[in-house]
Amino acid sequence: MGDRTTHRTYCRICVAVCGLEVDVEDGIAVAVRGDDAHPLSAGYLCNKGRALPAIHQNPDRLDTPLHRVDGELVAASWPDVLADLESTVADIVRESGPGAVGFFTGAGMYLDAAGYWATRRLSRRLDSGHFYSDTTIDSAAKYRVMELMAGSYSLMAHADPDARLVLMFGTNPVVSHGQTPMFEDPVRRLRRAQDHGEVWVVDPRTTESARLATRHLAIRPGTDFAVLAFLVRALVDSGIDRAGLDRRAVNVEQLVSAVAPYTLRETAACTALSEVELVDLLAAVRRAGRLAVLTGTGVTMSPAGNITEWLTWALLAVTDSLDRPGGMWFNPGYVARLDQRASIPSAGEPGAGPPTRPEIPTLMGEWPAAVIPAEIEAGNLRALFVLGGNVVTCLPDTNRVLEALPRLEVLTVVDVARNATTPYATHVLPAHAQLERPDVPLLNDLFNSKLTLQYTRPVLEPIDGCRSAWWILARVGRMLGVDVLPPGVDVDTATDDAVLDLIAGAETLATLRGAETPWLEAPMPASGWLTDKLPDRRWNVAPDALVAQLATLEAPAALVLTPRRQPKRFNGRTIREGDHAEALLHPEDAAAWQIANGELVEVSSVAGSLRLRARVTDATSVGTVSIPHGWADCNVNVLVSSRVLDPLTGMPRSSGTAVSVRPVATATPAAT
Ligand code: SF4
Repeated sequence: MGDRTTHRTYCRICVAVCGLEVDVEDGIAVAVRGDDAHPLSAGYLCNKGRALPAIHQNPDRLDTPLHRVDGELVAASWPDVLADLESTVADIVRESGPGAVGFFTGAGMYLDAAGYWATRRLSRRLDSGHFYSDTTIDSAAKYRVMELMAGSYSLMAHADPDARLVLMFGTNPVVSHGQTPMFEDPVRRLRRAQDHGEVWVVDPRTTESARLATRHLAIRPGTDFAVLAFLVRALVDSGIDRAGLDRRAVNVEQLVSAVAPYTLRETAACTALSEVELVDLLAAVRRAGRLAVLTGTGVTMSPAGNITEWLTWALLAVTDSLDRPGGMWFNPGYVARLDQRASIPSAGEPGAGPPTRPEIPTLMGEWPAAVIPAEIEAGNLRALFVLGGNVVTCLPDTNRVLEALPRLEVLTVVDVARNATTPYATHVLPAHAQLERPDVPLLNDLFNSKLTLQYTRPVLEPIDGCRSAWWILARVGRMLGVDVLPPGVDVDTATDDAVLDLIAGAETLATLRGAETPWLEAPMPASGWLTDKLPDRRWNVAPDALVAQLATLEAPAALVLTPRRQPKRFNGRTIREGDHAEALLHPEDAAAWQIANGELVEVSSVAGSLRLRARVTDATSVGTVSIPHGWADCNVNVLVSSRVLDPLTGMPRSSGTAVSVRPVATATPAAT
C-alpha cells in the first residue's frame, strides 16, 4: 500500500460546489469526505459526491481521441483527429460559411471555468448563431422573466436565512440542491428555516423536501401560477401599503387586472387545492409579512413556467420582499461585485431566432436547443460540437433527434466519459476530469448562497490521452479562423493555471493558492443595493408579453407528464446505482386505467410512446405520470414534442405534456 495523501478540493458534479477532502493513494482517489470548514457546504456531501472516486475510475472514461472510419469509432492521435476534423469543417465553412457550425453546451462544461470561458469567447467571436445550451431545456423562463421585469439576466435572488416563511413551488432542493440560486446543505437549511419560521412546499409530488416541510400542498401540475395570482389578488385587495407598492413597481394596475379572475373559488377549482388550504396559505403569508419564494424545474419546464416565474416576483414585490431583510437577497457576486457598479448588466435587445423558428427571440445570445433537429433537417446546421453535454437524453423528441444526428457531417463530442451521444459522433475529443485540473467556480459567482470564491489545485495526475477543454476549444477556434485566446497567449505552451489567471485575476488566484483554506469570503451586502440600479428604480410587475401569455394559458389535460430528478443520478449520468426508471401513478389514476403496482405500462403522447414499470403511490397527485429524466434506454423525451415550443423562450413542454397510459400485458420492459 502506498502513501495516502489528503487534498482539499470541491465537487464539480453540480453547481452546489461542495467542499471536499479527497484521499489519494498510488495516484488513485480512494475516499472522499465533506469538508466541515467549507463556507457553503459545511461538511455536507450528497450521494453523488460520495461516488466521486468511482466516477474517476469509470469504465466509460475516455482516454484517447476517436474518429469514425468506415462507420466505426477508432482510436487516433491528437494530430490525426484534429487534422481530420479540420479538413471536414473547413469544407463546410467554405461551402456554407461559419453559420453552418453549431455548439451545444451541457452541465459538464459549466464547472470547468477555463473550458466554459473558452466556449463563450468562441461563441461571441464566431457569431454563427447556432449556440445552444441546456438552459433552454430547463430554466429559460427564469432568465426571460428577469429580463422583462428588470432588464437584466444577472439577478440571483436567494432566500434570506432569516425569512419567516419560505414558500417553494416545484422545487426539491433535498435532491436538486437548488436551481440557479443554489440551496447547498439542503436538509440542515430547511430545518434551520423551520426553527424560526415555516416552510411550505407546493408540489404535485410528496418530494423529499415536502416531507421536511411545515405543510405540503399537493397541487394539480402546471397550476402553481394560479396560487400566486390568488395570493397577489388577496394581498392587493387588503393588507399591503398600496402607495409603497406604487413607489417600487410600475404597471401595478395591469397586475391587478391580470390576477382579478383568481378568486378563492376559481383558484381552488383550477389547482385542485381545497379552499381551506388556500386560506391557510394566505394566512401564513400575512403572518410572515415578508417571505422568500423558491421555484425549480417543476415550474420552469411547464407550459406556465414564464407566468409562474413572473407571479413569483410579483408576489415578492407586492409583499416588499425583493432585496429586503426577511425576503430575498440578491448575490452581487464575489467577483462580479454588481453592488459596487454604477448599474447592473443590461440584457440588451434579444436577437432574431433560428431560421426554422425566427419568431422565438434569443436568450442570453442563444437559440433554443429544441430546434437543433429542425435546423439539421433544414440543412442549416451541418457540424455540431457537443461540449460536456448529452443531446440524446437532453433534447425533446428523441425519435426525431436520433433521425437527425446521423445527417450531421460532423458531430464532435468533447467530454470526459462516453454517454448516449458518443455512438453518433464523428469525432470524440477526451477532456480532463474534474480532479485532474485546477479550477475556480466562476460561473456560479451569483448562484452561491454566500459571497465566496474558491480554488482547487489538481488532485490527480491527468490521463496522457486527454487534453484541457480550453485547449480543445482554442484549437477548434483556430480551425474556424477565430482566436479564442488573447494575443500573446500561445495555445500550445499556456498552462491551465495561466488561463485561470486570465479569467479570474492572477492576484486573486495567487492569494487563494497561498492560503491555508482555498476560499475567500466577503460579507453579504446590505439589503437595498439592487433597487437603485433597476431601470427607473422600480420593478415592472406586469410586462405586456407576460400579461398576454397569461390570457392564452390552457387548462392542463386530465393526465400530464411530470419529469423528476433522482438522488443517484445527475441529468443523463448514473452517478451511483440504485435508481430506476419508473412511472409514478396515483392510486386513483391507476384504478381508472386498470394498472397494478409494478405492471409494465405504455405511456403515450403526440410525440411518441414509452414502456416502463408503473409504481402506484400516493406520493404523486392525481392526474400526473411522473417519469425521471436523463435515461437513455427509457428516455422520457420520447414523449416531449420539439414542435410545440414556448413562444417567449423556445422551451419544450417537458412538464405538462398530455399523456395517456395503458397496461401492456405482454412485452419486454424498455428499462427496469
Ligand atoms: S450537492 Fe452533491 S453533486 Fe452537487 S456539488 Fe455537492 S456533493 Fe457534488
